[in-house]
Amino acid sequence: MSKQRLEGKVAIVTGAASGIGEDAVKTFVENGAFVVIADINHELGHHLATSIGLDKVSYHHCDVRDEKQVEQTVSFTLEKYGTLDIMFSNAGIPGPMSSILEFDLNKFDNTMAVNIRGVAATIKHAARVMVDRKIRGSIICTASVAATVAGGGGHDYVTSKHGLIGLVRSTCSELGAYGIRVNSISPYLVATPLVCRTLGKEQGEIEANGNDIGNLKGVTLKGKHIAEAALFLASDESAYISGHNLVVDGGFSVINTSFP
Ligand code: NAD
Repeated sequence: MSKQRLEGKVAIVTGAASGIGEDAVKTFVENGAFVVIADINHELGHHLATSIGLDKVSYHHCDVRDEKQVEQTVSFTLEKYGTLDIMFSNAGIPGPMSSILEFDLNKFDNTMAVNIRGVAATIKHAARVMVDRKIRGSIICTASVAATVAGGGGHDYVTSKHGLIGLVRSTCSELGAYGIRVNSISPYLVATPLVCRTLGKEQGEIEANGNDIGNLKGVTLKGKHIAEAALFLASDESAYISGHNLVVDGGFSVINTSFP
């Protein structure tokens, strides 16, 4: 039997209880990894862990806004599986869609606390372990097309995802000395539960609209496509790729400078 792409590797996925994170957990496990589902949603996280099988995955409560919880999640992973090869820092929230004239700076702080501070905490604590133990690990962060194209979210979401790209570039330049890779993925619109709730629309309606304003016809973007990109960046197939923002948008951001 041929070797699986992540055979024996150990990963943490944040924001793993639903949407893109859930698809990444399943894809990583299908490819031979052991995965810690790190999320704030106990119910969904436990359900996902038991449905996949507790011999392959574990749920661990982790609010990425709290650095202590991120550190504890990394410690839990080491105790349970003995190492950490992959950190998929995926947890993120949408911000409000308000005008800058009505900007709520408390909400702004919360968006930054999850989308930037939380990602910084995951990179820090994964990198500490990888550097200490000489693990040539892979750190992957979920950005967005909103990291390069105007619109596609409120001002704080767009700002947070632009900042995330800076964080990835900056940390990749330091961690390359240890053989650790840091990359991001920028998805176009995926009709995850959160997006459906935020837009107040059904999955099918969002996907039909996405197909209309997207570029690539005949393909509906699913969480699985983003999970496959994460699998590539997690695996040895991308061994010399670092500091890269892998855009998974069917070419949307090449032909658009803003959302219609
Ligand atoms: P989702 O809501 O389906 O999943 C997000 C998960 O993150 C949930 O399980 C939630 O419980 C968890 N979470 C929220 N706050 C958290 C916190 N403080 N600590 C830990 N976990 C937390 O959303 P999704 O659409 O799958 O989004 C995943 C990532 O993809 C986000 O970073 C998002 O910005 C990004 N993204 C999504 C899209 C899209 O269209 N769905 C497009 C571009 C980027």
